[in-house]
Amino acid sequence: MIRRCLLGLLMLCAISLGEIVAAQDLGPKFRKIKEGIYVQSAREVNSTVGIVLTTEGVVLIDTGQTLVDTRQVAEAVKKLTPMPVRFVINTEVHPDHTTGNFVFSPPAVVINHAGAGDAMRKADNPNRFATAAPDIKAAAEGYRLVAPHVEYQEKMTLRVGERTFELLRVRNAHSEADTAVWLPQERVLFAGSAAIPNSLNNVRPFVTIADLLAAARMLRSLSPEVVVPGHGSPGTTRIFDESEKYYTLLLERVTAMVKAGKTREQIGMELRMPEYADWAYQERMPSNIDAAYRAATDR
Ligand SMILES: [Zn+2]
Repeated sequence: MIRRCLLGLLMLCAISLGEIVAAQDLGPKFRKIKEGIYVQSAREVNSTVGIVLTTEGVVLIDTGQTLVDTRQVAEAVKKLTPMPVRFVINTEVHPDHTTGNFVFSPPAVVINHAGAGDAMRKADNPNRFATAAPDIKAAAEGYRLVAPHVEYQEKMTLRVGERTFELLRVRNAHSEADTAVWLPQERVLFAGSAAIPNSLNNVRPFVTIADLLAAARMLRSLSPEVVVPGHGSPGTTRIFDESEKYYTLLLERVTAMVKAGKTREQIGMELRMPEYADWAYQERMPSNIDAAYRAATDR
């Protein structure tokens, strides 16, 4: 927290410190970021869950890194309000954001961009909990795949009680269907996994650096006060600045090496990104180099 303040996140820290007592009642993994808006993240690199209370019920953004986290979110919701979870918005298709959909649905309606359901059905393995740890197995009781009931194209506005949620497609940035959730009145942005703080991302073959840079610019242009990334701690638009800086530098270095006649293999061995050596998930670097190589060689 102190380091974050020093990094220029004074405003966010003031919000968090002023309201931390109420969030502590929910457990150490929960933070209150605005009146009626909470975030759960089990560990710094874990996926985040947004809990948004409205006068007409609860809207969740994603469902937790593991099903143990999902169950804790369900408990927290019960402590916060007697009202049901009406909607679950998935910011991507991967299990660490979506497996817990079944805990809230029915009655909750699940929403993500077009393509999410197909990708989730293709990847689903109902036996995946067979060898899981006992606590996960217990939390997985009753598991079934719940893919989005509603798939939108490009943009969707959801109004629940006094709140407005703008669902924005983030194109080719992380998974087969990525959604950012923007609350314009509260100026809170649930940004999904296009840009995650202090971590390398897994850049899949359909993701391009051009689209990652476009995502950072589009999300920053909303001028959010608080940015909740798909993984890690809530912050500010600095998350997008850092992502943009990283991919720009990566592309610059890989392009220079391609121009110097290096092969993909040589680049893999010789490229150094010491500025980002302390970021998590260094093992994802090859997928990052692949994306930069595709961009530099126009493939
Ligand atoms: Zn993911």
